[in-house]
Amino acid sequence: MRVDTGQVFKLEDYRPSEFLIPETKLTFNLHPTKTLVQAELTIRTRSGQPPNAALVLDGDELELRSLAINGKVLDAASYTATPDRLTINELPQADTFTLVIETEIAPEHNKALSGLYRSSGNYTTQCEAEGFRRITYFLDRPDVLSVYTVRLEADSKETPLLLSNGNLVERGPVESGALDSGRHYAVWHDPFPKPSYLFALVGGDLGSIKDSFTTVSGREVELGIYVEHGKEERAAYAMDALKRSMRWDEEVFGREYDLDVFNIVAVSDFNMGAMENKGLNIFNDKYVLADEATATDADYAGIEAVIAHEYFHNWTGNRITCRDWFQLCLKEGLTVFRDHEFSADQRSRAVKRIAEVRGLRAQQFPEDQGPLAHPVRPRRYREINNFYTSTVYEKGSEVVRMIRTILGAEDFRRSMDLYFERHDGDAATIEDFLRVFEEVSGRDLSQFALWYHQAGTPSVQVAMRHDADKREVTLHLEQALAPTPTESRKRLMHIPLQFGLVGQDGRDIAAKPAGDGVEGDVIHLRKRHQTIRFTDVSERPVLSINRGFSAPIMLAMEQTAEDRIFLARHDSDLFARWQALTTLYTQALTQAYRTIRGGGTPEFEPALLALVGDTAGNEALEPAYRALALSLPGEGDIAREIGQTIDPDAILQARNALVLAIGSANADGFAAIYDEMAASGPFSPDAANAGRRSLRNVLLDYLSAPAGDVKRAASQYESATNMTDRAAALAVLAHRQSGSPEAVAALADFESRFRAEPLVIDKWFQIQATVPGTATVDTVRELMRHSGFSIDNPNRVRSLVGTFAAANQTAFHAADGSGYKLFADAVLEVERRNPQVAARIATSFRSWRSLEPGRQDKARQALVAISQHKDLSSDLRDIVERTLA
Ligand SMILES: [Zn+2]
Repeated sequence: MRVDTGQVFKLEDYRPSEFLIPETKLTFNLHPTKTLVQAELTIRTRSGQPPNAALVLDGDELELRSLAINGKVLDAASYTATPDRLTINELPQADTFTLVIETEIAPEHNKALSGLYRSSGNYTTQCEAEGFRRITYFLDRPDVLSVYTVRLEADSKETPLLLSNGNLVERGPVESGALDSGRHYAVWHDPFPKPSYLFALVGGDLGSIKDSFTTVSGREVELGIYVEHGKEERAAYAMDALKRSMRWDEEVFGREYDLDVFNIVAVSDFNMGAMENKGLNIFNDKYVLADEATATDADYAGIEAVIAHEYFHNWTGNRITCRDWFQLCLKEGLTVFRDHEFSADQRSRAVKRIAEVRGLRAQQFPEDQGPLAHPVRPRRYREINNFYTSTVYEKGSEVVRMIRTILGAEDFRRSMDLYFERHDGDAATIEDFLRVFEEVSGRDLSQFALWYHQAGTPSVQVAMRHDADKREVTLHLEQALAPTPTESRKRLMHIPLQFGLVGQDGRDIAAKPAGDGVEGDVIHLRKRHQTIRFTDVSERPVLSINRGFSAPIMLAMEQTAEDRIFLARHDSDLFARWQALTTLYTQALTQAYRTIRGGGTPEFEPALLALVGDTAGNEALEPAYRALALSLPGEGDIAREIGQTIDPDAILQARNALVLAIGSANADGFAAIYDEMAASGPFSPDAANAGRRSLRNVLLDYLSAPAGDVKRAASQYESATNMTDRAAALAVLAHRQSGSPEAVAALADFESRFRAEPLVIDKWFQIQATVPGTATVDTVRELMRHSGFSIDNPNRVRSLVGTFAAANQTAFHAADGSGYKLFADAVLEVERRNPQVAARIATSFRSWRSLEPGRQDKARQALVAISQHKDLSSDLRDIVERTLA
């Protein structure tokens, strides 16, 4: 484990490497505890002159076996080797030389799951961001690109499968005189220069499914997905998603695949979702395996999105990579944008957009508003592993989306073409990226670039006035950006706001803007205060603004409830229609919260309850959309709206009260739609069928809210023929009717049915970890001792401990501090094995300062207890200290 040294890395300190490694030949002799790694590196000086400084290579927990330059073994006096660094002082007086390094590693003992590790009998690697230095000493930085040839050797019986990046060159038995050595080898060559973080190997015994894809220029690509034996059929959907992704990238971005093979390997112990290693993507099996009995519709959608995301990286990340880790958003923000667009094209654009925005508000907004806030392109870090954040990924994607909004689809595509043409083979920067859009469109994006450089979520206030006599509409807009931990002064942003003026008939009025600041249906807010006038408007319109969530901002608008109800019924922009309803919910919920805090009983406007009923039954809207329209803001969303001195118990009560009010006002209608949405015909994971299930399951939650109303959920649980319906019924029973005999029986049944399915048991953990109320603290403690739980497996840790802290506001924030204590102990236990996962889940403390004083105090104590531990990893210390600062 990398113990914290306090070192801070800064963007302004970037210098190109003085040494390059044009060629890398790796030989692995795979063994669980004694894997020998030989790295033969061609080293060249950047200057073309003999070296004038020592060569310093990165390492992490490495043990050097031998070292030779140009075939000559180095004597101990000419270098120093520590676990985290190899410094060679005496170098040949030449611009090019060959360095051979031998190290020995123990994959079996690697529980950090970074570098080369072995789990469930399979060898696998994870090198992003800095895992390669756990395999051999190297210039482990993304701007050092090298052509790799990899020879793998292993026991033929135990490890029949040997994969690496690129194309297979040769394979066969390892000769050992006349005897069969019992070992075999394979040689892989990747012709495309790549940074070390994209290196991968897999050795194991796995089943597979094979397919092929013919690219737009007629080349045949062999496709393989490798999974545990017996699970091959569950990889079919992933294969289908892969082929659709390959076609889509050709059609929409003009990007063709470049190697002869594309392999995906699913592993069960994995720190992240998946990894885009060139030609050999390695996946958390959660994002590969699916069938109707074990995967929900959300799982299917997740598989489609992640398969696409990693595939799209072949161009945005691999062919064009990042110059340094400060540019992480260059590949991640852009690739998330690409996978969002892919899913929108495969499914429903409005539904997809709403789901993205819900995710952004739940994850990224709290990050932006808390102690861990950082710009999309950070300028400093202590531990890069902690910057694989929602800000870099999701907000990074929103920034790319805004560029397209500003440029329009045509100029955006032309700019992307130029980006691929100009930077193929480069390690590029955000400046390189922005330049192509400026050049193609002729626009000045310097103010816009602040989206990459300033942390925080801008807020925009809007007011509209209509002057009937002058037939004029005036919009007043004002922007603000609150200080964030490392930036007290903020500059004004360029915020593109899509809008419409909606007439009484529900159609947009064609209003003429007087003056600048408006282009088509986009307002460009660039100043602190901006006033925009529209002429020739005789009737009073209703303003619909930030349509499609064109800018990731917080919007405050003076608007009456009547106007919002009007938009929720008539806005032609389906996102804005959903937003109007969501704003009405939020206002009702914050008011109910205050009533409950004041000792009263909340009441809700009949007009709102009727609007929800009408939306549920509106057949002009697709079921998936109606399901989202019926989904109330989460407890975290409500907390953010309230802002300070949060009482999570009162939030839960307010939310439950609104669920009950909506459910009882619409009980008959909801029951009828629930029946109408029942499945007919065989299971299909497609968007239309998934949408019907999702609407039905949202309604089930409303219909099961009254105390004792268990029948419908219990019966759905019993009769379910797919995991979506079964898991939804189980969650409703466990959350709404916790402790009822039906809930207890269903939980027990689920466990016994799926005992042998770790990914399904994760759902069982999640459902129990999110049962509201402090009793769940004990449940989680008990489940950590369950035979299906393993502190070594990231999926288990995330589904039980991670979900508890991230998604159970009333138990994690239990007033007596018991939730924090349980969680802090668990974080420290995870950290001893896997610092990256521990640091990631520990971010759940980030909103602690917004709580009421009693809870704040308890949360601070738990954080301090973690920080006082000796020898904390750099990963966890970084998160805890920034959270406390
Ligand atoms: Zn990615």
